Amino acid sequence: MGGPVTQAVTILGATGSIGTSALDVIERHPDRYRAHALTAHSNVEALADLAQRIRPDVVVIGDPALEDRLRSAMRARGARAEVAAGARALVEVAGAPEADAVLAAIVGAAGLMPTLAAAEAGKRLMLANKEAVVCAGALLMAAVRRGGATLLPVDSEHNAIHQCLAGVRAVERDGARLVLTASGGPFRDRRDLDSVTPQEACAHPNWVMGRKISVDSATLMNKGLEVIEASWLFGIPVERIEVVIHPQSVVHSMVEFPDGSVLAQMGTPDMRTPLAYALAWPERIASGAQRLDFARLGGLTFEAPDHRRFPCLGFAFDALRHGRGASAVLNAANEVAVQAFLEGRLRFTDIAPTIERVLESYDPPEPAGIDEVLEIDRRARGHAANALALRA
Ligand code: NAD
Ligand code: MG
Repeated sequence: MGGPVTQAVTILGATGSIGTSALDVIERHPDRYRAHALTAHSNVEALADLAQRIRPDVVVIGDPALEDRLRSAMRARGARAEVAAGARALVEVAGAPEADAVLAAIVGAAGLMPTLAAAEAGKRLMLANKEAVVCAGALLMAAVRRGGATLLPVDSEHNAIHQCLAGVRAVERDGARLVLTASGGPFRDRRDLDSVTPQEACAHPNWVMGRKISVDSATLMNKGLEVIEASWLFGIPVERIEVVIHPQSVVHSMVEFPDGSVLAQMGTPDMRTPLAYALAWPERIASGAQRLDFARLGGLTFEAPDHRRFPCLGFAFDALRHGRGASAVLNAANEVAVQAFLEGRLRFTDIAPTIERVLESYDPPEPAGIDEVLEIDRRARGHAANALALRA
């Protein structure tokens, strides 16, 4: 009989870097995938273009004030998807029965509620939105279990670990250690960090990404968030997670076993590889990524991270160790500080002290439910705004 059954995919954050890469993979396999819903926050023109090109059933614009503009942009292009708008519509579309798979690729805590909805609805949940895990790891993992969702990490490190753990039995996992690789960002060897501009911070040596994650990569907060993400996704405690700088971004992460064996996953740095894995698992499909050419690679190098120059990594380890609401506070403070830096209101080197001040001034208990997570997020943003005002 014929080929694979067509999967209906919803992409939350379709206009972003991850969303765009995912659509590139999906368009290579029209027999396997079709788009159910595509969403964006405010880029009306880009979303209307996608509606015309990809022909999804539904498009959702996060900012409700832009609904009419989206409708006219769609009309102008003769695009015919159903249109919805606002935060509630994002949550509804994430859990809608018409989709088999949902790619959570909204940036920041803004993606938390739709990501949870996809988990509760039992989707194949392709998870890029690491901030959702950092804010509400326990609640998200519980929602995945309750909903019977299949969680497939898209973040390249976690995708690598997922691949390394395939076929590893629970007893073997007990002693396993995770080694997350980090490129070190654009300023690994730069001396003067005070004068870093947003444009410099967003020019990553190996990956082209959204602006927020680019700054996070430059401060190493991205790796910190990933340490917290890894602990929740794989149920591994903080003592068994390690970070190593690997500037070539070829080894995407590793798992080490008590007997000394280390499994690594490698590939060219291209997010289409983990996206294709998440889309097709347990099968494998072409992603469009270049093959790894070992003869041309030259060398792979590794070094310890410099915690003194990049304190954000340590904040994340501390927050994970501390527990309670610390990870949600860390995430919110970071989002506020990064936004201020991108808008030219904060120096690069003031990002870490701003976050530290918030962590010291606000220590909420473990959130029992999602409303408490949202409250911690809201209050931590208030503390961060105060910390910014003090620096100014
Ligand atoms: P991006 O800024 O390029 O895209 C973000 C997307 O989210 C856009 O479609 C935007 O419209 C949408 N969005 C932003 N704010 C929103 C809001 N308030 N409500 C609804 N939608 C909103 O970001 P990106 O680089 O694609 O990253 C997306 C997520 O994937 C982030 O959590 C990031 O950490 C993670 N991730 C990205 C990469 C990468 O290579 N870019 C790698 C690993 C993980
Ligand atoms: Mg990553």
